[in-house]
Amino acid sequence: GETVVVQDLAQKMGKKVSEVIKQLMNLGVLATINQEIDAETATLVAAEFGIEVKVKDTKPVTELEDIPDDPELLKERPPVVTVMGHVDHGKTSLLDAIRQTNVTATEAGGITQHIGAYQVDVDGKKITFLDTPGHEAFTAMRARGAQITDIAVLVVAADDGVMPQTVEAINHAKAANVPIIVAINKIDKPNANPERVKQELTEHGLIPEEWGGDTICVNVSALKREGIDNLLEMILLVAEMAELKANPDRPARGVVIEAELDKGRGPVATMLVQKGTLKVGDYLVAGLTHGRVRAMMDHRGQRIKKAGPSVPVEVLGMSDVPEPGDIFQVVEDEKLARQIAENRKAEKREEELHKTARASLDELMKQM
Ligand code: GDP
Ligand code: MG
Repeated sequence: GETVVVQDLAQKMGKKVSEVIKQLMNLGVLATINQEIDAETATLVAAEFGIEVKVKDTKPVTELEDIPDDPELLKERPPVVTVMGHVDHGKTSLLDAIRQTNVTATEAGGITQHIGAYQVDVDGKKITFLDTPGHEAFTAMRARGAQITDIAVLVVAADDGVMPQTVEAINHAKAANVPIIVAINKIDKPNANPERVKQELTEHGLIPEEWGGDTICVNVSALKREGIDNLLEMILLVAEMAELKANPDRPARGVVIEAELDKGRGPVATMLVQKGTLKVGDYLVAGLTHGRVRAMMDHRGQRIKKAGPSVPVEVLGMSDVPEPGDIFQVVEDEKLARQIAENRKAEKREEELHKTARASLDELMKQM
């Protein structure tokens, strides 16, 4: 609870410290000039002087304000793309095809690490892909109010057409107000029927461009690596129209994509920087956890010192494993980082206690 030092209390009331100490003694409290007394005692003492005490409600800090940036400081940033679609329509294959199209043989033996997200380079422009199933990403992120994707690539198999999870994906993207690009996949198959897919899409409000609508559809074969370049170009086109911007010159803020406990390295978290620049040595809070960036790796496993907007990084140095979808934010020092994480944990414990109490009360009522 709140406390006040005896001397400060006396000053605030305009009384002599000795008088306050005397009143405290009357109440059975032996206190020195520099002693802290609780709000309740202070209220009683003040009442003796005919003064009313107002205890300020200094709720522990759990939320960090996301200070808006001056529009002048905003700079172009790469789009963050999620791939969604019905099971077996080729999401994983497409992500692999995109990744491999862009890995040159010289790069670390052509091997990319799995960190839950990666970036590709298209004619000097970057695109960030989230590797997690789009559906899960959307649900987890939305539960925490985090908007992380700029563009959704909807994969529809040309031999199977629009299926229940396709519709679900469309609804997710629409609800999040995220533009959809349709990748009509498996066009290498003899029974592929892209026109039928387009027909079915119109029934769900996605009218292809060539039919006078505004939905971009691209024929691809993830298996044969066909149409991938065209898809990437369309992504850049949509990104350009969206004018995606962020201020790189501020403390970083973003979202946790994935996290796990590594036996040797401790908590490892893949984080997507959304604004600002994350640097080695930064103190940060992520959900109920806090830490200091000990080391950062890009999606190729290469150590980097800083990461700007839309860059996914693997971060070492968290106190604990954060949750996917947790917002992270860089703070000034370790004390503040720890404090906020502690406050959040305390708040959560209290919420859970309330829940349990309510549950047992309900139980009791039932038995009555
Ligand atoms: P996901 O469940 O959406 O991630 O689908 P996968 O990427 O796992 O693909 C499901 C199956 O479809 C696998 O057997 C793939 O090899 C196959 N597949 C994916 N893309 C293509 C494609 O372009 N052409 C053909 N013929 N098969 C594909
Ligand atoms: Mg898959």
